[in-house]
Amino acid sequence: MYIKALVLDNFKSFGRKTKIPFYEDFTVVTGPNGSGKSNIIDAVLFALGLARTRGIRAEKLTDLIYNPGHEDGDRSAGPREATVEVVLDNSDETLTRSQVVNAAGSDDVGDVDEIRIRRRVKETEDNYYSYYYLNDRSVNLSDIQDLLAQAGVTPEGYNVVMQGDVTEIINMTPHARREIIDEIAGVAEFDAKKEDAFEE
Ligand code: ATP
Ligand code: MG
Repeated sequence: MYIKALVLDNFKSFGRKTKIPFYEDFTVVTGPNGSGKSNIIDAVLFALGLARTRGIRAEKLTDLIYNPGHEDGDRSAGPREATVEVVLDNSDETLTRSQVVNAAGSDDVGDVDEIRIRRRVKETEDNYYSYYYLNDRSVNLSDIQDLLAQAGVTPEGYNVVMQGDVTEIINMTPHARREIIDEIAGVAEFDAKKEDAFEE
């Protein structure tokens, strides 16, 4: 399974609906400083619900909504919203149809060769709302997280390696570093289960 496209609409510097294709093996995004490269990564973190643990660059969720006056600290008037959709190529059936149906709570998920995870944040005058969709079905964040975990994508995992992560790993104590390797190798999960079992 891999990300085959990202659709940004009114997200951070992407004031227009923008579809970004990704390749299966390796995709590089280049561009001048401030052109929005890192905003693309923020979009992935936002849509997949990994934002809090992986350090998205925004204080509030509503800072992620496109704002033409962003540089001047102004804020546009009226209702505002942003949407990001991550299109996953699941043609290798990393996730089975029943896993997707389970997470969506509905049979009506279309062809699961393609899994689309969409998140929308909407700001009203005195509040904001966040919505998640799985193949157009409305779901909760936990549904998305449980589904992704079955494909090995977790908030604590290292599917996303942020700037500074590598230096941090180098500067860790050997024990802390070992924990990360266990996490990546999938051993940590069993250690936790073993500990639970001993406690019982
Ligand atoms: P660098 O090469 O320096 O890392 P980059 O390509 O990664 O740059 P980003 O950090 O992705 O650039 O983009 C920064 C730009 O996004 C800034 O110009 C900033 O004004 C703009 N930006 C951030 N949030 C918003 C927003 N809510 N609305 C409009 N523009 C925004
Ligand atoms: Mg950057």
